[in-house]
Amino acid sequence: MDVAVYSTKSYDRSFLDAANARDGARHRLIYFEPRLGPDTATLAAGSNAVCAFVNDRLERATIAILSRHGLKLVVLRSTGFNNVDLTAARQCGLTIARVPAYSPEAVAEHTVALILALDHKIHRAYARVREGNFALDGLLGFNIAGRTFGVVGTGKIGMTVARIMRAFGCTVLAYDPKPDPDLQATGGRYVPLPDLLAQADIISLHCPLTPETRHLIDSRAIKRMKPGVMLINTSRGAVIDTKAVIAGLKSGKIGYLGLDVYEEEGDLFFEDLSDQVLEDDVFARLLTFPNVLITGHQGFFTTEALTAIAETTIANLTSFEETGRAIYEVSTDMLG
Ligand code: NAD
Repeated sequence: MDVAVYSTKSYDRSFLDAANARDGARHRLIYFEPRLGPDTATLAAGSNAVCAFVNDRLERATIAILSRHGLKLVVLRSTGFNNVDLTAARQCGLTIARVPAYSPEAVAEHTVALILALDHKIHRAYARVREGNFALDGLLGFNIAGRTFGVVGTGKIGMTVARIMRAFGCTVLAYDPKPDPDLQATGGRYVPLPDLLAQADIISLHCPLTPETRHLIDSRAIKRMKPGVMLINTSRGAVIDTKAVIAGLKSGKIGYLGLDVYEEEGDLFFEDLSDQVLEDDVFARLLTFPNVLITGHQGFFTTEALTAIAETTIANLTSFEETGRAIYEVSTDMLG
């Protein structure tokens, strides 16, 4: 199949080309740097399929253009599919496929890296030591052992984080509308979300972005939290209301914030903007807090994860070519 690959970086090319070669090089991958959206969708004209990433905008207008050009398949290089209008895709007869699981350890370990770095203030210590400042004032941390860890969403990533935090000696509380019986085996227990928010010293978000989880962490949720709580989000940016979180940071209610995702990350992440003026004032405000640590959606960025993403993406393409069905199709039923 001829595949228009959007939001391509050099690392996407090398992992996708290697996976395609292992599969007999049966697909012609045509790489485009721009993000997919209504203004770039026509680049896919003449291709049989589109390959998209997390900040590609598969809204109704984009889907209509792809459909007009006769495209029948979009393979996502991601687990999340919140950037796709699934109803429009169904109406246009466009199959959407994704990578349901690739390496939960990649994102889970990145989550724990944020927790430890914030607690021990590694980001600040690194800068100080390089400047010859060996003073410890302001770097006081706390022991993770004995603390209560709250995990929101106990799917593949949330469960992996829960296991690691148990191994650190935390009490693990969890909330998920679809509880997983395996949580008990890891020593954790399910509680209602308000109880988790009220009792946890560290709260980590691992649910998908859906209409129900949009701004799940808003000012009401923050009000329930312990003073000085650590909040970590490596799921999707809009699960938290960033302005409410900034108010929580200013009041001191939120003592630590670790983010790998941001509500408006589409205009920022994955690009080198270091010589440009930052136009997003909310993001700029976040960067002013000493107790905020932000990474640019890199939780998935390990060799193992990129290999698995590329292999599943190629397998989805090959399956669709051979049978008319991708292996991991996404449907509107998965929204609720
Ligand atoms: P998963 O589907 O295995 O798990 C998601 C869990 O969230 C499920 O158990 C589900 O029941 C639960 N959930 C649904 N609605 C909920 C709600 N209202 N409250 C609490 N829990 C709810 O997904 P996963 O592989 O563990 O990934 C989790 C999320 O992490 C993805 O949806 C994606 O948005 C994000 N992600 C981020 C990166 C990154 O690089 N930062 C990489 C991969 C995935």
